[in-house]
Amino acid sequence: MRTLNTFDFKNKKALIRVDFNVPLNANFEVTDTTRIVAAKPTIIKILEDGGSCVLMSHLGRPKGAEDKFSLKHITNVVEEIIGVEVKFVSNCVGAEAEKAVANLEPGQIILLENLRFHEQEKAGDRQFAEQLSKLGDIYVNDAFGTAHRAHASTTIVADFFPEQKCFGSLLTKEIESIEKVMSSGEKPITAVLGGAKVSSKITIIDNILDKIDHLIIGGGMAYTFAKAQGGNIGNSLVEDDKLDLALSILEKAKQKNVEIHLPIDTIVADGFSNDANTNTELTAQITNGWMGLDVGTQTQAHFANVIANSKTILWNGPLGVFEMENFAKGTIALGNAIANATKNGAFSLVGGGDSVAAVKQFGFENKVSYVSTGGGAMLESLEGKTLPGIAAILS
Ligand code: AMP
Repeated sequence: MRTLNTFDFKNKKALIRVDFNVPLNANFEVTDTTRIVAAKPTIIKILEDGGSCVLMSHLGRPKGAEDKFSLKHITNVVEEIIGVEVKFVSNCVGAEAEKAVANLEPGQIILLENLRFHEQEKAGDRQFAEQLSKLGDIYVNDAFGTAHRAHASTTIVADFFPEQKCFGSLLTKEIESIEKVMSSGEKPITAVLGGAKVSSKITIIDNILDKIDHLIIGGGMAYTFAKAQGGNIGNSLVEDDKLDLALSILEKAKQKNVEIHLPIDTIVADGFSNDANTNTELTAQITNGWMGLDVGTQTQAHFANVIANSKTILWNGPLGVFEMENFAKGTIALGNAIANATKNGAFSLVGGGDSVAAVKQFGFENKVSYVSTGGGAMLESLEGKTLPGIAAILS
């Protein structure tokens, strides 16, 4: 695998695809700098080698060159975080960009304007990619969040660097973490899938059943399984057209010797609200008119026990409606169990949308082995798809 260590960047200009798609408030202030901080190690390594950095990214979903999506708004923050002056260039291709790159000295950084100001970026346009390719000697992809898109700057541009291309350190870590779970993980391997719907996780389940020993299912999707097995689930979330599918997953898991763990007890509520009345019931015997919004304490203990005996853990999706305090306990208990297992030597990867939000909200971020930065890219990796941005570097 071509990584940053494959090259000596001395006197080289690195064209780096970063993911600076950060949230801005009404005053154009960055409200979450995680993605910029995550790009820092790659940039620093190249500068320390004696190279220079040409940073390119998208920001938001502009329709043409919309000022509110300009990367000029974040230049100061990038500068503060990296600790080196950053020069902003108001176009990502063309004469101005080429001149700025020509004048670039070792140790210097330029930040190009939003790639998506040109519609050719998302279209994966070859000519646009070729123009981008003129802006560096070595292409570095460090944007996992867009690695599942065959855009000009994430994939097509790599064609113009047949050998001179590599993954940045963030992307390398993402790839290694996924690999640890999907192909080289120490057994027992446990996947925890939560979240709202079975339908959005079915391709993941199909792909991972061959690789894991235990599958913990929580969140709203658990009730489709409970109903499929003949349980009474009251008003809980259910996908009635997925009942047969749920049964076939259980059957497939049995054939593949994967142990499935479903919630035994459930925190039920008489409405979808933090102020609703609550009770604990067996997941298979929920009173009509009530709905399951979190896993119960018996389930928490059982899941924690499975996690404690696991050596590799993948977590995608919350176990309950964690956005409401009264239904966050199951997700917090799982986070604690994973943090403990990690402390005891297990490898834990958290990825995909809401579980990342939950991990951050409840302070588990530094207590798990790796938190993925890419929602869609992570989900597609777990589904077993080859991401175009990754394939383009490997080819
Ligand atoms: P997903 O994007 O599929 O991972 O789903 C995440 C969402 O699932 C979160 O917003 C949770 O509030 C929601 N969720 C988790 N458990 C339940 C449940 N028992 N009933 C309804 N929604 C749930």
